[in-house]
Amino acid sequence: MKVGVLALQGDVREHSQVLAELGAHPVAVRTPEDLTGVDAMVLPGGESTTISMLLDSSGLRRPLGARLAEGMPALGTCAGMVLLATEVLDGRPDQESFGAIDLTVRRNAFGRQVASFETDLDVAGLSGEALHAVFIRAPVVERAGPAVEVLASVADSQGVPRPVLCRQGVVVAAAFHPELSGDWRVHEMFLAGR
Ligand code: GLN
Repeated sequence: MKVGVLALQGDVREHSQVLAELGAHPVAVRTPEDLTGVDAMVLPGGESTTISMLLDSSGLRRPLGARLAEGMPALGTCAGMVLLATEVLDGRPDQESFGAIDLTVRRNAFGRQVASFETDLDVAGLSGEALHAVFIRAPVVERAGPAVEVLASVADSQGVPRPVLCRQGVVVAAAFHPELSGDWRVHEMFLAGR
């Protein structure tokens, strides 16, 4: 299976290594031509404002948006979750997202602006030990639509449980970085679920 990794900025190499370890064939996607023959996409963490601008300058926004609208499976992590969401709060005014999963997300909103943290998650449908998750200036999900299945949540600084791993059909979005913890079960779930 050819899995495209959006390679404009961010954790591209890390995701590609995980996909290769799991037996998929990662393809770096930088241009519209790179999308040809890709069966699924990973949108990595990084800086969603930057990636959003690069989607325009690379010419990828329309063709990638069209593939997502046709139902191409996609995994978005952190900035990738922001890019896949329906609505982005605290983004740049010109920042656009694909609306591939019905979430409203607020950028950089877990704890303080610079807060990063690690925690263990109980994930619905994952057997075995808790999933160790690394959060780096993570988005907070403020709203998950009725079609969204919340697979894991974490309490925010007010104690309100916030979805951090969500699925809507073939689209999976994580507020954390599953490519950084050495536990590839989110990628496995994504590859198995398409
Ligand atoms: N704060 C970043 C953004 O909104 C995401 C951070 C990350 O991907 N680690 O784009």
